[in-house]
Amino acid sequence: MTKLSIGMRLTLWYLAIFAGAQLIFGAGMWFVLRHHVYDLVDDGLESQVEDLESFLRAQDKDASLSKLQEEFGETFVLEHSGDYLQVYAGNGEWVYRSAFLQEHPLPPVEPNLVRRASFDDRRLGKRPFRFVTLALHLNGRTYTIQSGVPNKDVVEALSQFRLYLLMFAPLLFLIAAAGGYWLSRRALAPVDSIVQTARAITGTNLDSRLKKLETGDELQRLSDTLNEMLDRIERAFLRITQFTADASHELRTPISLVRTEAELALRRSRDEAEYQESLRHILSESERATSLIEELLALARADSGREMLHMRPVSLQATLRGMVDSWRQVATIRTLQFSDSLGVSESFVLADETALRRVVNILLDNAFKYTPSPGTVKLSLEQKTDKAVVVVEDTGIGIPAEEQSKVFERFYRVDKARSREMGGAGLGLSIAQWIAQQHRGIIAVESEPGKGTIFRLELPLTAAPVRKPMLA
Ligand code: ADP
Repeated sequence: MTKLSIGMRLTLWYLAIFAGAQLIFGAGMWFVLRHHVYDLVDDGLESQVEDLESFLRAQDKDASLSKLQEEFGETFVLEHSGDYLQVYAGNGEWVYRSAFLQEHPLPPVEPNLVRRASFDDRRLGKRPFRFVTLALHLNGRTYTIQSGVPNKDVVEALSQFRLYLLMFAPLLFLIAAAGGYWLSRRALAPVDSIVQTARAITGTNLDSRLKKLETGDELQRLSDTLNEMLDRIERAFLRITQFTADASHELRTPISLVRTEAELALRRSRDEAEYQESLRHILSESERATSLIEELLALARADSGREMLHMRPVSLQATLRGMVDSWRQVATIRTLQFSDSLGVSESFVLADETALRRVVNILLDNAFKYTPSPGTVKLSLEQKTDKAVVVVEDTGIGIPAEEQSKVFERFYRVDKARSREMGGAGLGLSIAQWIAQQHRGIIAVESEPGKGTIFRLELPLTAAPVRKPMLA
């Protein structure tokens, strides 16, 4: 079932509430008016009864029924005040009965049942009347009195009022429906414009934004929030396109070098030494391409959240100690000094050991790459109250102050040619930073061009794992 639009639903809700309020108001007004008008009529009937009571009191105590009948006849017939009056004594004998009521008799009432004056509507001779019925105990007799007034005007006025209400209600309802629909359309018009612009936004025009609303209401907040979201999506999209462009560019270089080398080698026949030389070049470019692809894959997995790290308490000393030997060999090949200072007390961090090695390798690899001989690279471990700091220090070319924050960006290289020559694509530090963040740590850089660079990897310490006792 298709759902109604918000505008339509708002209008329908508005109408339902309006109709309910109109019904309550109309019915309430009708009842209040009826109550007041009947009060007036009943007051008139009560004063009639009071007159009648005074009249009965004024009669002689021992007056016979026939005497009373005579008095009533003289007083009420002549004055016309008893046109709709009937009175009978307790034993059921008539004291007075108007000509009209003789013609249209009222059912007699049992006097015991009439404790208080009771009012009711009756139709007699096709005319509406309001009657009061009352039992009076006077001079040892019980009189049952029923006195009425024609009620036509009141009934007509009330039905006229009801008619007006019923006539105007649909009209008001229609006006409210039109007004409600117009209001909701007007209030929701910006939503339509937001929807239209949002529909037109695709990957190729991500720079378009929704029209800025100045309404200061929820819709302005909505369009502002959507625009902020578009900003973020655009930035992420640009990062991805930039990343893809950079990655393709970086991959093209080693692959075209491999191709050129192979083409040159095949152009004419060569001796074995020349072929070996060409193959060595091809191998080294393929290795470069492989490591680049590995780095790209690592970042792609990190971005997609699929890179699973297996965290457990790891001893930093043990991990670093296991790495120093191979770096000592690198230092020898590169004719650089390498020293380590890993301390004596063990510091444990919650880490994925492979990822941890990778960060330190990236930092050491950079230190060796960007330190010309003669120079020194130092690996040390410092322990603070709640964190351990792995420090990689070199006496190399350094990084200018304005570039220091950028070196963690993907594909960023301070000196592109030099870095490429060293085999770097500018991805190492961004991978290192991602790993540090996954370990709730940070990497900070401190450097002075021409003097050297210090990279600090800070990781929160964790408790040492409980070692299971060896079975005897
Ligand atoms: P690359 O693979 O190019 O080394 P990185 O992301 O590891 O990429 O480093 C980014 C850039 O930061 C490098 O190209 C280099 O210019 C600079 N850099 C990193 N480490 C050092 C260092 N120890 N000394 C001088 N420059 C460095």
